[in-house]
Amino acid sequence: MVCPNCGLNIADDNKFCPQCGTPLYRTFDSYNADKVNMFFMSHNDKLPESQITLIKEKLMYLDEKKWNTAYSVQYKDPIVALLLSFFLGEFGIDRFYIGQTGLGVVKLLTCGGFGIWAIIDLFLIMEATRVENANKLLNAIA
Ligand SMILES: [Zn+2]
Repeated sequence: MVCPNCGLNIADDNKFCPQCGTPLYRTFDSYNADKVNMFFMSHNDKLPESQITLIKEKLMYLDEKKWNTAYSVQYKDPIVALLLSFFLGEFGIDRFYIGQTGLGVVKLLTCGGFGIWAIIDLFLIMEATRVENANKLLNAIA
């Protein structure tokens, strides 16, 4: 490994840099890995399985300011979206909730796609919520 302070190349089992004395028990990568894991512990259910690897890679290289941004994004709850879809789906309220205003309007005007779309959305809305959350996060930290 390389000393984060002076750049000296050091054997991996060293606890301190022999040149400058910087403690090496926590490298940059493992420090960020902890933060990424912490983030996923609280946001796992709000993000799509298919994009978790991509999101983890992006989070690995965030600076402090962008970390605050990542936490301040208004993530929508897939369970709330499902409840809205179940009770108010024919008015498109579920799609409005996750920020898809255009789809919400179309759904509202067609009474939930004449009821068919409203039923289909019961199966799609949770993943749609997670994908919207991921897009919001990736845009915020880009
Ligand atoms: Zn050093």
